[in-house]
Amino acid sequence: MAHKIQTRLLHKGRGEKRAAGPVNPQIMRASTIVFEDLASWRDVRKKRATQRVLSYGARGTETTFELEKLLIEMEGGYRAQVFPTGLAAIAVTILGFAHSGGHVLFVDSVYEPVRKICSTMLAPNNISFDFFKADGSDFEEKIRPETQLVFVESPGSLLYELLDLPEICRIAHQRNIPVAIDNTWGSGLLYNPLELGADVSVIAATKYLCGHSDVMMGVIVCNEKAWSMMGELPEALGQTTSPDDIALVLRGMRTLHTRLAAHEKSALKIAKWLQTRPEVKTVYCPALPEHPRHDLFLRDCKGTNGLLTIELNKHYTNKHAETFIDALSLFGIGASWGGFESLVLPANAKGARTATDYTSHGEFIRFHIGLESVDDLLDDLEQAFKTMTA
Ligand SMILES: *Cc1c(COP(=O)(O)O)cnc(C)c1O
Repeated sequence: MAHKIQTRLLHKGRGEKRAAGPVNPQIMRASTIVFEDLASWRDVRKKRATQRVLSYGARGTETTFELEKLLIEMEGGYRAQVFPTGLAAIAVTILGFAHSGGHVLFVDSVYEPVRKICSTMLAPNNISFDFFKADGSDFEEKIRPETQLVFVESPGSLLYELLDLPEICRIAHQRNIPVAIDNTWGSGLLYNPLELGADVSVIAATKYLCGHSDVMMGVIVCNEKAWSMMGELPEALGQTTSPDDIALVLRGMRTLHTRLAAHEKSALKIAKWLQTRPEVKTVYCPALPEHPRHDLFLRDCKGTNGLLTIELNKHYTNKHAETFIDALSLFGIGASWGGFESLVLPANAKGARTATDYTSHGEFIRFHIGLESVDDLLDDLEQAFKTMTA
């Protein structure tokens, strides 16, 4: 019987079984790989386009291959590839599918720095792009004959809008357009885009896979067709990652299931409490029944994570929001999320969306609910609201 993913995350990606040996795979650091003779050197060079073989450090070592195996266990798919950051993984994925004269269609709720890829890499290379609404309502009408890639994120960044991914994939695939998705929110456990029909799943391993705020890394998992379309682009662009960092991500993934469950439990408790606060107009979280597409959450997601965003009531100004944030003591002020610690930042949903107008909304604040005692976090939030309204 196939083991559950919780079990496989512990037992796979641990290197070759030995009669006696350490629990974790050895970290293999390498640039040069030396061969016995030219025949075996040639043999490996022949194989390396299609197989995971040691040929040169830039193409990964055994440590890299163990992480790739574990990612495939988690996301399904045919092949995985590791990148130095999440954004690098996104950029190379887009460039793998989009070519001069083509068009890329993005969801409006995409991770905001992706827009910089559009302005610096797509526009100057004669690749046009559009953003469709985060609920998918104008998706089909935005497709063009020259569309070469649909790039989505679901739940979306900042406000966690959900797309009907199987339906998006059905419409795109009818026209032979591949679908790539940023799956950092789901991180392979809460959402499985390849099972829902997507061709490429991209995860910022910087977030929950690492889980301890001390590694930058991105990964992609592709189905067979998408892998052949990506070709040798990651290698051509010299995308590689340190085996030491990979070992930290492998370590993080051993506890991913347990950590996510703990983040979820605290986030749900805090979300429900925030919904009772008079200062708060809306709590954004797909696991709440009030989420406009909670039906899709129930159908497609296996749980939620530590991310929550609130919208303050309209009469609270930017100054109020900043007073609240500065008054928090347990929530670090900083970018990224997915580590063990709680974080908070103002969320610029108004600036990060172009297909939907958010200018009439109140102030948005995004939290990452960490693994601290939930009672301590609630006390901290309560005193910060008191300071804000004083
Ligand atoms: C953080 C993040 C990324 C980028 O990851 P980096 O490793 O910081 O480059 C991409 N997508 C989403 C949704 C993210 O939250």
